[in-house]
Amino acid sequence: MEKIIVSACLLGESCRFDGKSKPNAEVIALKEKYTLIPVCAEVLGGLPTPRLPSEIQLKGKERCVVRIDGKDVTPEYTKGALRVFEIAKENDCKIAVLKARSPSCGKGFVYDGTYTRSLTEGNGICAELLMDNGILVIDETELNKIQ
Ligand code: SF4
Repeated sequence: MEKIIVSACLLGESCRFDGKSKPNAEVIALKEKYTLIPVCAEVLGGLPTPRLPSEIQLKGKERCVVRIDGKDVTPEYTKGALRVFEIAKENDCKIAVLKARSPSCGKGFVYDGTYTRSLTEGNGICAELLMDNGILVIDETELNKIQ
């Protein structure tokens, strides 16, 4: 079966910043058609679980990931995204199903960096890296594109 990358939290792994998961039955059911490769870019970047929440902010023209206490965690997010991309390449994955709105996994919209649950257009760090390298990234609301 074709291998695809999937956000681990959507498969029930407790890797979210709050120590919880976001299992999604439709995503889990993709295992009937694909071999699912669970990844969590934030964990792969070396961040602990649970961890303080982070959002993407603009510093000049540069997009940074900033933790709620002000620490710049862009290096960890970048490291995790690169590791996910390596795993995708190692497994010849052409599709990634990623969790919506996350600063790593979000596609199309992410939280705007104000910690007010407001969304802005943009992609998470990992989602963008995969998309820039030709991988089809969809979130859990777009599964019809690959079913
Ligand atoms: Fe889920 Fe992605 Fe956040 Fe990990 S980085 S908890 S896989 S949304």
